[in-house]
Amino acid sequence: ARTVLVSGCSSGIGLELAVQLARDPKQRYQVVATMRDLRKKGALEEAAGEALGKTLTVAQLDVCSDESVAQCLSCIQGGEVDVLVNNAGLGLVGPVEGLSIATMKSILDTNFFGAVRLVKAVLPGMKRRRQGHIVVVSSVMGLQGVMFNDVYAASKFAVEGFFESLAIQLLQFNIHVSLVEPGPVITDFEGKLLAQVSSQEFPGTDPDTLHYFRDIYLPASRELFRSVGQSPQDVARAIVKVINSSRPPLRRQTNARYVPLTALKVVAPSGHLYVRVTHGLLFRWPRLLNLGLRCLACGCLPTRVRPQ
Ligand code: NAD
Repeated sequence: ARTVLVSGCSSGIGLELAVQLARDPKQRYQVVATMRDLRKKGALEEAAGEALGKTLTVAQLDVCSDESVAQCLSCIQGGEVDVLVNNAGLGLVGPVEGLSIATMKSILDTNFFGAVRLVKAVLPGMKRRRQGHIVVVSSVMGLQGVMFNDVYAASKFAVEGFFESLAIQLLQFNIHVSLVEPGPVITDFEGKLLAQVSSQEFPGTDPDTLHYFRDIYLPASRELFRSVGQSPQDVARAIVKVINSSRPPLRRQTNARYVPLTALKVVAPSGHLYVRVTHGLLFRWPRLLNLGLRCLACGCLPTRVRPQ
């Protein structure tokens, strides 16, 4: 069986992925399902059912701590990880004027350096064995900027640049790299973000910006989660496919509805098209935002919906 280490398994995509892998009918995986706070292991253990203690073990791992990473890897039999899934991540939304540099750094620390830290730890073993697969849960925001997600998108762009660069070298060692890019996923992620936003003042931010954030961005975001959000089960299934693939892709988007939007950057390398269309969808034709995403993929945009 291949040893798969997954970070951030107390909830959401990580929990689902760990369980799906551990319940593989052919028992092809030994899953080390890790989380920062073991007091939160109840939901994972319950979902794992009979796999617990057989094909799934739970271990403590804080991706922001060198000691925690070393300690976790030292407990893995043979210390060998065949598949690493960097899933742990945090969101951050809000006007940049109102966010502290310390808060921004904590997002980069988790989403970017957290993944880098784990990779540094498993890479020597993978290189020695001339085999391995590094999977990273990125986001469509690793491919395109989204209003008021500046820092989160930056952290995922960092991930994309880092792992695309590494992929070239690692091909030489028979190690695959895969970036999985979901759109909105219905997990605790959005709830945690909204809780953080509702209690925050964003000091130093002008009233227009606050209005755009609270009255334009937040409702549009909520509506997008509601209308095109995927389940963590769906995203986990897409990741399992990537792990099973004999020729793993460097990139895999999980939500077909986002493909046309991300393609705008490729179509017009100046970036104007992406920025103008996205601006228009938020400020000028808000009714098109959801319908657009819902229907762009299949080309069924209803004709009665016209820009205002
Ligand atoms: P989630 O909040 O349920 O899961 C994130 C997990 O990461 C949590 O269990 C959290 O405890 C863990 N975590 C945070 N900091 C950690 C640390 N220092 N060490 C170890 N674990 C830590 O949300 P999710 O949606 O399952 O998110 C999983 C991944 O998917 C993240 O990387 C996120 O950026 C990405 N993603 C989420 C969405 C979405 O809309 N939910 C969309 C695209 C990408």
